[in-house]
Amino acid sequence: ANVPMVLLNDGHALPQLGFGVWQIDNARAPEVVATAMNAGYRLIDTAANYGNEASVGVALRRMNLPRSQLYVTTKLRNEDHGYDRAMRAFDASAARLQLDVVDLYLIHWPCPQRAAYVETWRALIELQKQGRVRSIGVSNFAADHLECIIHETGVTPAVNQIELHPAFQQQMLRNIHERYGIVTQAWSPLGQGRALDDPRIRAIAERSSRTVAQVILRWHFETGSIAIPKSANAARMAENIDLFGFELTSNDHAVIAGLDRPDGRIGPDPAAYGQM
Ligand code: NAD
Repeated sequence: ANVPMVLLNDGHALPQLGFGVWQIDNARAPEVVATAMNAGYRLIDTAANYGNEASVGVALRRMNLPRSQLYVTTKLRNEDHGYDRAMRAFDASAARLQLDVVDLYLIHWPCPQRAAYVETWRALIELQKQGRVRSIGVSNFAADHLECIIHETGVTPAVNQIELHPAFQQQMLRNIHERYGIVTQAWSPLGQGRALDDPRIRAIAERSSRTVAQVILRWHFETGSIAIPKSANAARMAENIDLFGFELTSNDHAVIAGLDRPDGRIGPDPAAYGQM
């Protein structure tokens, strides 16, 4: 599978499909990551909070790929907001991953009640200046959080990684991303599996001789997002990356656009999550 690259606003690029390793424990992570890499995934999405950075690091090292072909994302835990804490937390993550340079470092949640995400963002800016992180971004930031860090620091995140799937399409936030040149990454791109039961997507899949997961992931791709689906199953990993030999019609897009729901969110609301 040849995954197309997407250009970021800092001049770097990322594969437009990745592999997420949330809930893949340390015992399984080396084998799961190796299987994903063999299926063709080159963007691996982890987080300090997932507790598996060390075993992801072991898996990446064992693969022995040229460093330039590998894209590793990790994220700063809520407990590590603040300038000094963020600098130390990054050192610990990079050490666990056995990486000198992390490709993409994200603030995992804005935690607005902690009122520290601007200082935290300044730490990420400094890490990028020092060359320890190639690209910096955020996750679960709402429009007001994005605008706050951009106006306070003058530095626009390259990426905002948000909950995004057919039942929760976040069109307003994606419009803001477009305005600022921020690339959208879609977490829980399959709605944690719930999106796979939708009969209207199933009809599109049957007509195009594809699976429901492929139609949804192709929809993310064609709408410009980087999806990071998770599966521990080799056949599904291969299925989820086999997206680049078909296209959705404008009617398919209209059908999927109609599946958005005001109550479609599965994960926590970022405005209230990660309080002390
Ligand atoms: P997902 O939407 O990727 O769904 C995963 C579920 O779908 C699993 O149960 C899997 O078994 C099933 N599945 C995957 N492919 C399938 C297929 N082809 N056919 C049938 N079933 C299939 O949900 P997720 O794991 O929550 O999200 C993916 C990644 O997003 C995570 O691993 C993590 O890296 C990231 N994430 C980030 C945040 C954040 O706050 N930034 C939050 C949640 C998840």
